Amino acid sequence: VKAASAEPLKDANELINSVETFIFDCDGVIWKGDNLIEGVPETLDMLRSKGKRLVFVTNNSTKSRKQYGKKFETLGLAVNEEEIFASSFAASAYLQSIDFPKDKKVYVIGEDGILKELELAGFQYLGGPDDGNKKIELKPGFYMEHDENVGAVVVGFDRYFNYYKVQYGTLCIRENPGCLFIATNRDAVTHLTDAQEWAGGGSMVGAIRGSTQKEPVVVGKPSTFMMDYLSKKFNILKSQICMVGDRLDTDVLFGQNGGCKSLLVLSGVTNLSMLRSPENPIQPDFYTSKVSDLLSLTAA
Ligand code: PLP
Ligand code: CA
Repeated sequence: VKAASAEPLKDANELINSVETFIFDCDGVIWKGDNLIEGVPETLDMLRSKGKRLVFVTNNSTKSRKQYGKKFETLGLAVNEEEIFASSFAASAYLQSIDFPKDKKVYVIGEDGILKELELAGFQYLGGPDDGNKKIELKPGFYMEHDENVGAVVVGFDRYFNYYKVQYGTLCIRENPGCLFIATNRDAVTHLTDAQEWAGGGSMVGAIRGSTQKEPVVVGKPSTFMMDYLSKKFNILKSQICMVGDRLDTDVLFGQNGGCKSLLVLSGVTNLSMLRSPENPIQPDFYTSKVSDLLSLTAA
């Protein structure tokens, strides 16, 4: 039975002993931008030494799992690519899970990470960051062609987003029979710099929702796709998982939608007053200031 209101984590041993897997969100939990959060390596080492499985999930689709592998390595963390579940990978894994035909194409509104994952899985794709990077001249009678063999449009965070992409993706979804609309994530805001909040992947997805009047299949958090995928892949019971994240509407909800335990850390975007706000309906099982509390609170 879920507590009505999240409790501060007091006995980390009890939590650690109650699960066999920890899923960590990345930004705001493991790192902030390009900086490692203090105490993370030692905490991950401790959890591994206790035989816990560690999995890393991020809604940031701009990198592939291989590119994230390099990022972990640069930060001095020994993490296997197979333990990383980015929403870029999730888009490709979703297409594989539905046996998306290899003779059809995927139109990508997004950055390099999605292209790399599709390529690795052997899917044909078009689009990507550089697509249509010029003004559309609307001469009388101008007609924009599109590939009728596109069977899916994948939309993720895209700093090169433009009107051409909106029109192209819209034509595919509206005119190609059965064309899928897949979103890597729908985060309203993201924290590209610490100076302000930035429009997140939800803004690109919102443009295509607006023009097609269709709802996407979301493969990133808080949708259960990745949770189902990794619980099947590693053969783990969801009740044996603790989801650790810094956001209520993506991470904690992802854990709760998946039937897992959840731990909110206050090292990212959520602070205590947001957690305690009467407007917030999402309560994790526990909260604590940072991941390394799992280490310090086991010593006691
Ligand atoms: N999307 C983008 C574009 C981001 O830059 C970030 C964080 O840096 C996220 C999503 C959220 O990432 P995470 O799920 O690791 O917190
Ligand atoms: Ca996060």
